[in-house]
Amino acid sequence: MIGKIKEYLAKLNKQLLIVLSIVILLLIIKLPNYKVLSIFNSINENTIVVDPGHGGIDGGAGKKNDILEKDINLQVSAKLKKELIVEGFQVIMTREEDVSLENFSNIKGSRYRRDLDARKTIINNNKPLAFISIHCNSSKKTSAKGIKVYYYPESIEGEKLAKSISQSIDENFYKAYMKEENLRTEILTEDFFILRETDYPGVLIEVGFLTNPEENKLLREDEYQRQIARAIKKGILKYLE
Ligand SMILES: [Zn+2]
Repeated sequence: MIGKIKEYLAKLNKQLLIVLSIVILLLIIKLPNYKVLSIFNSINENTIVVDPGHGGIDGGAGKKNDILEKDINLQVSAKLKKELIVEGFQVIMTREEDVSLENFSNIKGSRYRRDLDARKTIINNNKPLAFISIHCNSSKKTSAKGIKVYYYPESIEGEKLAKSISQSIDENFYKAYMKEENLRTEILTEDFFILRETDYPGVLIEVGFLTNPEENKLLREDEYQRQIARAIKKGILKYLE
């Protein structure tokens, strides 16, 4: 009888040992896998996406033989990227060069629509704290001027970000740099694709009018661009506080 019990216990131990071994083995296999996966899937929690509007075949606003919107957008965006990196953010640019992005989209649609879809995908895939689309404005009225910040009508976070950036531009750019006491950034809502179709707080900033002779000249200047970029960055920082 005792012999049988011993045998049974030994069997039980063996089974237990096998189960335990499997559990340990699974843990060994699973845990590093999980870690590896989480590294590969890891979305930097400190990411900001900067989206220079237009590019390549799509010049955006601007006259022939004059500077094009796509170029100013990229120059200001590159400066914003630098500013944000200094603050420790990971910055993802939707484009770093003079290219359009339609080839990165799988959807059917116009070249323009696919370009925007690719930008949307980059923003959503990177799960940013915020994203900023940089554009330049144009108007039939050459007197039209100034910086405009757009957010999506239903976005509470977009509104907060827009207000924070506008306030910073008013203080740090208009007042402190341009010595313009009376100029104010305009905050507007607009149903822009890039604002509507993205899942993260974002704004579209028109940094000035290429059709305004004075701003057309200023927008080409390195220091002018840098000051705008710095003011935008300070607004983002304030928003994230
Ligand atoms: Zn534009």
